[in-house]
Amino acid sequence: MMQRTIPVRLKRVVNRSYAVRVEVGIVDSLPEFFRRNWGRRRIFIITDTNVGRLYGRRLLRALSLSGLDASMLDFPAGEESKNAAVVFALHSQLLGLGIRRDSCIVALGGGVVGDVAGFVAATVLRGISFIQVPTTLLAQVDSSVGGKVGIDHPKGKNLIGAFHQPVAVFVDPAVLKTLPVTEFKNGLAEMVKIAAAVDKRLFGRIERRAGVIRRGNERLLGSLLVRAIELKAAVVEKDEFDAGLRAVLNFGHTLAHAIEASSGYSIKHGAAVAMGMASEARIAMRMGLLRESDFKRLLLVMRALGLPVKFPRITSRPKFLFALSADKKASGNRLKFTLLKGIGHAVVGVEVPTPFILELLNGSR
Ligand code: ADP
Ligand code: ZN
Repeated sequence: MMQRTIPVRLKRVVNRSYAVRVEVGIVDSLPEFFRRNWGRRRIFIITDTNVGRLYGRRLLRALSLSGLDASMLDFPAGEESKNAAVVFALHSQLLGLGIRRDSCIVALGGGVVGDVAGFVAATVLRGISFIQVPTTLLAQVDSSVGGKVGIDHPKGKNLIGAFHQPVAVFVDPAVLKTLPVTEFKNGLAEMVKIAAAVDKRLFGRIERRAGVIRRGNERLLGSLLVRAIELKAAVVEKDEFDAGLRAVLNFGHTLAHAIEASSGYSIKHGAAVAMGMASEARIAMRMGLLRESDFKRLLLVMRALGLPVKFPRITSRPKFLFALSADKKASGNRLKFTLLKGIGHAVVGVEVPTPFILELLNGSR
């Protein structure tokens, strides 16, 4: 038979831009937003048991009182819920409730809810709109913008997922009042990360106001969040699908992933990121990339915020090195780090010679 080649020409022409609104009390204005923009389309709030109790029921009531057709689904709080069984259960419930392509999912909660609800939104009926309402500082500053959604797999964290951008993000610093201190600090670590990696001025602001930040001042947090999200948005705009530039956001993360994994995830992501930043900065200094004075500045800020800076005792070296090599595989068989050259200036793809890693491990015994 004659051979033919048929091109399938696909050009993305849809504009998937969205706005992130940051405002104290903005959760209370969601009904107004939906009434204006969403009309008669159905709304499905997906949340976890904690956030459902704290904010979900109130939001559901407010939406219903505004004459909107809203329902709420929840799943048990915690990283353990980031799995296929939870996603499938949510799919079933949504289909049972008659979800349609023009319905909208509201992800109300921390990073786990954003990941799970976002993945459900990306997959149910081949993908429907969703809105992020992040309620942890970590989700507000980092994970709710950028469109990465997904779940864990027995083989590793975040291995199953998609890029599915939200249609809007609502960041309300007021909900941080009820956040446990450890969770709050996890978010502060990501805030320090983005400042240290790309914005010297933001870093300076955090440095000067560390005490006030730590006490959770809403207005100050709001204004820092605005800047941090602007920075994240700028990176995401240039590299939506994580092909290169987005790696600047990985500062502290190469070691963090290995620290988390080798602790059996008893060390939480934010804490691991803080430890990872301190240790990666030390490596950068030892390699002659980062000045000692900048290294000290970073450590001082993290201490002032109450973040852990000490490299933890690694109980299982094989697990630690295995986790590092998993990162290595991801970047073409070379162990590459995002290291600081100065405050506000991260460089990506820096190869770190093994002795520097061993030095860390030996120092931690
Ligand atoms: P992360 O955002 O760090 O990925 P999670 O989504 O697991 O983490 O949220 C951390 C914990 O904080 C969960 O138990 C969650 O239910 C709870 N939580 C989330 N937002 C709030 C809030 N605003 N107030 C109190 N607890 C919250
Ligand atoms: Zn992170």
